[in-house]
Amino acid sequence: MNSIVHVYKGDEIARYGFGDPHPFGTDRHDVFHKELAAANLGERIHYAHPRRASVDELALFHTADYIDRVSRLSVTGKGYLDEGDTPAIKGIFDAASDVVGSVLSAVDRIMHGETRRAFVPIAGLHHAARDRAGGFCVFNDCGVAVEYLRKNYGLKRIAYVDIDAHHGDGVFYGFEDDPDLIFADIHQDGRFLYPGTGAETETGTGRARGTKLNIAMPPGATDSDFRAAWRRVEDYLRNAKPEFILFQCGADSLEGDPITQLCYTEAAHAEAAASLCRIADEFCEGRIIGVGGGGYNRRNIARAWTRVVQSFVAAG
Ligand SMILES: [Zn+2]
Repeated sequence: MNSIVHVYKGDEIARYGFGDPHPFGTDRHDVFHKELAAANLGERIHYAHPRRASVDELALFHTADYIDRVSRLSVTGKGYLDEGDTPAIKGIFDAASDVVGSVLSAVDRIMHGETRRAFVPIAGLHHAARDRAGGFCVFNDCGVAVEYLRKNYGLKRIAYVDIDAHHGDGVFYGFEDDPDLIFADIHQDGRFLYPGTGAETETGTGRARGTKLNIAMPPGATDSDFRAAWRRVEDYLRNAKPEFILFQCGADSLEGDPITQLCYTEAAHAEAAASLCRIADEFCEGRIIGVGGGGYNRRNIARAWTRVVQSFVAAG
C-alpha cells in the first residue's frame, strides 16, 4: 500500500476566503504551504490538484434551494450568506465547490488505493448546515464527503473527529439522528464561544441518542487538558470501529488565536493525528483525510497543519 501522503495545493482552494480584514483571508493556504515546504518531507508527500464538486455532489448533503441561493448571490457578490459572518463575495460558489471537490478527490484517491492518507488545508468548513451557511463556511465538505463515501463506496461507519476550537455544528446537526455517523468533537465550551452548541449532553437524537461524543473545554484549556479529553475520543473510536476517518484539525484551538480562548500548542494536533493514524491502521486500512478547518493566527495555522502532515508521514 502506498504510504505517500497526498496534500492538496492550488489557487482554486487558496482563493476560498473573504478578503481583508475578514479573519478567513485568502493567504491561509500559502502560509501553510510555505511552512510545509520548509519541513523538507521530499518524496514522502505528493502534491495533488484541487477539483471542483458538481452540483449533484453538493446536493448529496445540501438542499437544492440553498445551493441555488449561493449560486445567485455569488454572481452579485452582495450581502451575506448567513446572519453576518459569511459575506457573499463574487465567485464564492466556485471556490466553495473547489474546496468540496478537493475533499472528494482525496476520498477517491484513498478508496482507489493510490494513498491511505491525505490532507486538504482549505477545507473542514464545519459550520455550514444542509440548508444554510454559517461561521465563514459556505459548503460543508465533510458533510458531503460522508454522503459521498456512503453512496459511491458503500461505507457506513464513517468517523468525523474535530479538534477545532469551535463546535462542528454543521456536521453534528446534519447527522444528529443518524446512528451510523461516528462523531467526536473537542471544542471550547459553547457558553463562551460561537456557535454556542456542543454541550456534553448532546449525544444525538432519536435512534442516534447516546452515539455522539461532544467534549466542551473551558477557556484557557492547555495540552494536558486536551490529552485527558483525547483519551475519551480514543476509547470512543475504538469502540465504534470506523471504516474511514475525517479529521478536522482547526488551528484556532492553539494559544494566540485572535478569536478563541483555548491554549493548546501544535503538539496537540501532532499527537491527535498520530493517534488517529494508529486507529485508522487498526480498523480501516489506514484511511484518513485531514482537513484544515479554522485558525486565524497565521503562525499557528502553518505549524499545526504542518505537524499534522508530519504525523501522517511518520505513521507510514
Ligand atoms: Zn474554528
